[in-house]
Amino acid sequence: MLIHLHTYGCQMNQYDSELIKSLLRSSDTKWTSDPEQADVILVNTCCVRDHAEQRALGRLRQLVHLKKSRPWVQVGILGCIAQERKGELFDEIPGLDWVVGPDEYRKLPQLIDGSGSPQSVFHGGSGESYDDVIPTSVTGPRAFIAVMRGCDNFCSYCVVPYVRGRERSRPLASIINEAKGLSSGSVREITLLGQNVNSYRDGNHDFSDVLREVAALPGIERVRFITSHPKDLSERLIHAMSEVPQVCPSLHLPAQSGSDRILHLMNRQYTRSQYLEKTAMVRKHILDVAISTDILVGFPGETDRDFQDTMNLLEEVKFHSVFSFRYSVRAGTAAAHLLDDVPESVKIARLEAVIARQRSISIGLHDARVGKSVTVLIEAAARKGDGNLMGRSPQDEVVVFPGNGAHIGDLCEVKIQEVRGFTLVGELTRIDKSRSSYRLSSESSCTAVSSQYMYRRNHVDISLDLRRHYHHCRIRNFAAE
Ligand code: SF4
Repeated sequence: MLIHLHTYGCQMNQYDSELIKSLLRSSDTKWTSDPEQADVILVNTCCVRDHAEQRALGRLRQLVHLKKSRPWVQVGILGCIAQERKGELFDEIPGLDWVVGPDEYRKLPQLIDGSGSPQSVFHGGSGESYDDVIPTSVTGPRAFIAVMRGCDNFCSYCVVPYVRGRERSRPLASIINEAKGLSSGSVREITLLGQNVNSYRDGNHDFSDVLREVAALPGIERVRFITSHPKDLSERLIHAMSEVPQVCPSLHLPAQSGSDRILHLMNRQYTRSQYLEKTAMVRKHILDVAISTDILVGFPGETDRDFQDTMNLLEEVKFHSVFSFRYSVRAGTAAAHLLDDVPESVKIARLEAVIARQRSISIGLHDARVGKSVTVLIEAAARKGDGNLMGRSPQDEVVVFPGNGAHIGDLCEVKIQEVRGFTLVGELTRIDKSRSSYRLSSESSCTAVSSQYMYRRNHVDISLDLRRHYHHCRIRNFAAE
């Protein structure tokens, strides 16, 4: 049986797709990237933004048409839209076979094996955390591990707590078990995933314990995490970041707005000054840390003054990068009851202003790297070829340089010579042979989701956001954070 699985949305959805592949692994299952060849088509969806939802539904409408020439094909919608819209999707997309929410993927093998394609709806609330399911193997140097699922924060604009369910942490032992498997293979960098990793709890263990234990595994050179809620960012976690050398000096800390009034309406549970205190603490303890954020413009009631507070926040914090969006109503959220009173033209103008201001801040921070050496974990051949390789600095900056004998998976030093767009370009000065235990040829295509996916997404940088701002382009749309 040939299965095609297409994934929309955040890293958590990408991770879930690897779980799904693992759950469907059997001797007669094969995967295809071509839906026209597939017997089963699965679309794992995201509903955090209206645009993402419309794209996924449009794609599904095209895919069910394939049944006209191949009537045995089965088509299922998975993920957040499935959970949000449930049975109504059968009317909206005639020909759909299954609607499966994010907590019900264990039922997929039965659904696919079942005869007659009964149309079925499954939805969550079970507290599923897939502790015992290890995602399909990763063949590149970077991988993701989900440490928790769901969210209890109920930010007023966000649909995640409704479609992903309440927050539940995965047992530390299960996380370490998965990380050990990865570190004994090709993986040198692990990104720990959760809607709000800062509220991770397993008995007496908090997220700083997860960081320390994953970082201590032999072979793991780097650990990153997303996402942090500012209200839960603790001194204990900041100390772990500063004390454990494998933990990268890179923190994504969504601010959403610089206005106390809007933060209150968003139910973010912190004030502007508390946010600034947290970023100051981070900068005090973590050398050369890169802080990135999310900004949501055009929230109901956002005035010019509120927006100016957000622009001032950009200046004060000097974020390394900003993922910016304009507000769209999400049914079922608290903000859906507010009047969406900021005109689209104003939302767009504000989004453009954020992007333009942040562009010059980001370029300034990147320019400051010229002449300096950065440590790079090599992820892939550079897209423009010519024997160039690409990797990332500890601050998550993309670095491109001529390979000169280095390989994917190597840690190396690169002296930065120039900045092109948001890419640092340099020359290789040293390969850390003592830590280059994993090799892929630089000519081979690194097929790991973790490396290619992140590479593509990183290159869809703010300039693309500018071009696509009409569609709320979110580069790293980790749910709403
Ligand atoms: S924005 Fe983030 S923290 Fe807030 S409810 Fe959504 S996922 Fe949770």
